[in-house]
Amino acid sequence: MDLQLKGKTAFISGSTQGIGFAIAKQLLQEGATVTINGRSQQKVDESVAKLNQQVPGAKAAGIAADFSKAAEVDQLIARLGAVDILVNNAGIFEPKPFTEITDAEWLRFFEVNVLSGVRMSRALFPKMLEKNWGRIIFISSESSILIPEEMIHYGTTKTAQLSISRGLAELTKGTGVTVNSVLPGPTRSEGVEEFIKQIGASKNITEQEVEADFFKTMRPSSLIQRFAGVDEIANLVTYVASPLSAATNGAALRADGGLVRSII
Ligand code: NAD
Repeated sequence: MDLQLKGKTAFISGSTQGIGFAIAKQLLQEGATVTINGRSQQKVDESVAKLNQQVPGAKAAGIAADFSKAAEVDQLIARLGAVDILVNNAGIFEPKPFTEITDAEWLRFFEVNVLSGVRMSRALFPKMLEKNWGRIIFISSESSILIPEEMIHYGTTKTAQLSISRGLAELTKGTGVTVNSVLPGPTRSEGVEEFIKQIGASKNITEQEVEADFFKTMRPSSLIQRFAGVDEIANLVTYVASPLSAATNGAALRADGGLVRSII
């Protein structure tokens, strides 16, 4: 299937690894020009080189900016210019008992997970409307619906993304611009890989045992009973980013392995 992405330009926040990197790779494979992002220039340069090497003829570039620092985001926006596809992917997660989450941590989670997408959309959405074509995709989480008791701050930020996404979609009426959210379930990104290793080491069990235990005790409603691969999330995002998805707007699309027990 030709996803008609040749000639389109895309920006993905937080994309030097994990789900964001997988989305970048697939968009490049489809012929889009992609700008990736991470916090350090060195990691951004390494990831750009990796993408250009892994995808023959790829047109990847990168801009370093930390989404917890407003001034760096302003500089990023000034350098980036207009894009056709904005993927608000940058996000942080960390299990922590509710009573131990400080105001500073609440604000940091809000800044990186929520304001990141607000700031990028505020700059780029008007340009998309002017062009009468564009795609904004928020990478939310199944945790936006099933708030995890071990990280309520994270779940709260992921729910906020759904409100922003649906609200922006309301402003696209009658145009060629769409705004949607994609909700991954537990996914084996580098960030999650690290988490699995730490638990394995602390409990002296294998990574396979950590995975089996996680789905048995923490996410029992998962239908696939395993972590999704990053490509399984990127497949859906790449389709939503394409012109073929034009009839999907204002939606919260799940790639959660059936974890959310809902029929719609
Ligand atoms: P990851 O930790 O593997 O990668 C995160 C990326 O974001 C990295 O490139 C990192 O450099 C970047 N990043 C982190 N903080 C940043 C900041 N302050 N400024 C700029 N970049 C920053 O993460 P992942 O698992 O691939 O998650 C990506 C997105 O998917 C997040 O929004 C996350 O909430 C969401 N998600 C992940 C899962 C999962 O199980 N992996 C499930 C649901 C939703």
